[in-house]
Amino acid sequence: MSDTHHDVYDTGLDTDQTFGRESDDLGEKCGVFGVYGHADAAAITALGLHALQHRGQEAAGICSFDGQRFFSERRMGLVGDHFSRGDVIERLPGNAAIGHVRYSTAGGTILRNVQPLFAELHGGGFALAHNGNLTNGMTLRRDLIRSGALYQSTSDTEAMLHLVARSSRNRFIDRFIDGLSRVEGAYSFVALTNKKMVGARDPYGFRPLVLGMLDGCYILASETCALDIIGARFVRDIEAGEIVVITDEGIESIKPFPQQPTRPCIFEYIYFARPDSMVHGHSVYEARKAFGAELARQEPVDADVVIPVPDSGVPAAIGYAQASGIPYELGIIRNHYVGRTFIQPTQAARDTGVRMKHSANRSVVTGKRIVLIDDSIVRGTTSMKIVKMMREAGAREVHFRIASPPIKFPDYYGIDMPDQQKLFAANHSIEEMRRFIGCDSLAFISVDGMYRALGHPEGRNPARPLFADHCFTGDYPTQIRDLVGEGPKQLSMLAEGG
Ligand code: AMP
Repeated sequence: MSDTHHDVYDTGLDTDQTFGRESDDLGEKCGVFGVYGHADAAAITALGLHALQHRGQEAAGICSFDGQRFFSERRMGLVGDHFSRGDVIERLPGNAAIGHVRYSTAGGTILRNVQPLFAELHGGGFALAHNGNLTNGMTLRRDLIRSGALYQSTSDTEAMLHLVARSSRNRFIDRFIDGLSRVEGAYSFVALTNKKMVGARDPYGFRPLVLGMLDGCYILASETCALDIIGARFVRDIEAGEIVVITDEGIESIKPFPQQPTRPCIFEYIYFARPDSMVHGHSVYEARKAFGAELARQEPVDADVVIPVPDSGVPAAIGYAQASGIPYELGIIRNHYVGRTFIQPTQAARDTGVRMKHSANRSVVTGKRIVLIDDSIVRGTTSMKIVKMMREAGAREVHFRIASPPIKFPDYYGIDMPDQQKLFAANHSIEEMRRFIGCDSLAFISVDGMYRALGHPEGRNPARPLFADHCFTGDYPTQIRDLVGEGPKQLSMLAEGG
């Protein structure tokens, strides 16, 4: 299959009328961006996606609208590899555009899963980009296919296209709300029609979505770092359960569903979001530093240097060093030309990835008692390699401190994570993990410690947890409808590569 895809859709019709068939331009989730009413819409979207690249490096796509037609470019690979090219941006004319960066969780990496999805509906075009994961995506898919829907991808997101297309309501926004009322789980959607750009966040607010402004035009983005790169002003977070409708007339906010306690995903603070982003009013960098400081108080160690596992462990290590008074040193140097290890699809690729990515800075390691800080342990691959590397570089003692609690339960809301059998902490005690990793001591921040670091001195209230912290507690905010096999397992749709 080719690794590029260009489409032009002649659908400048009235989307607020009736809807019909689907197109084959479909995809997946992870970082979303949109701009409405700007002459450089596609170029701005490319820049925004570039800033969101950490949310998915497998593929990227942009869909634009020029008042007459929709244009779509979807590519495998990094944003900068394709969307920095003038000819690609020229093929995306118009003053409205939405975009998406994506990773796949497992299996087939196919171009037709790359977003934005596009459906050429009877009333006009409908482009959709999704960050999150619909936990009833499989059920919806089965029901929709049974009733005649022609699915074109393995993506859970595609359900929204069919649901909007099949709604019996008249106005686009009512159809969209109809669709939302059927989907479960996590979504931050950015959608584009011939008359409006729409942003929507699920009622729990799992994944972030922010509103910005540039030259009098509205911007939607997964994170504030995507506003900063284009010089846009942060206006506010889109609220959990809120839909914003952006048209030539301005912005309208709709909250069609009953309000409920929100549960934003705590993993955005731990690992996912970029440190320079503000997520729900908190600086991600400061949150990570506070995790490190709390970890130092909770799990102190007598050592000579604090060393981060770069880049993910850097802010927490700074916090640990400041709180403990132990000097901070760069004992591991990261090669920045290698992608995130976790994104590699096979264990073999991941193993090589870690070696290619990190090397020991002997001058600060040899003969020292070191405290290594990383943000999380998932499979344990990174920690095992790093400890070995530190020992080979002559470290006298290696103490590992992790700025998140043990991950015992998989995420089903849009974070790339292996199923439970592969989660190190789900299958081993901390002492067993320590032995496998080969360090002298291993300790994690507690769940309460994490809440304290986020400004909740009382810790986690089990009766009213403020975050989605199921990876550590097993307390899933919603029913996970589409589990397959025995016990908690990854969604089968994800296992297919959706
Ligand atoms: P592992 O080697 O499987 O234990 O993964 C741990 C490393 O992966 C840590 O250095 C984290 O920074 C990083 N990591 C944690 N969660 C994720 C995720 N969802 N996607 C990609 N990388 C992650």
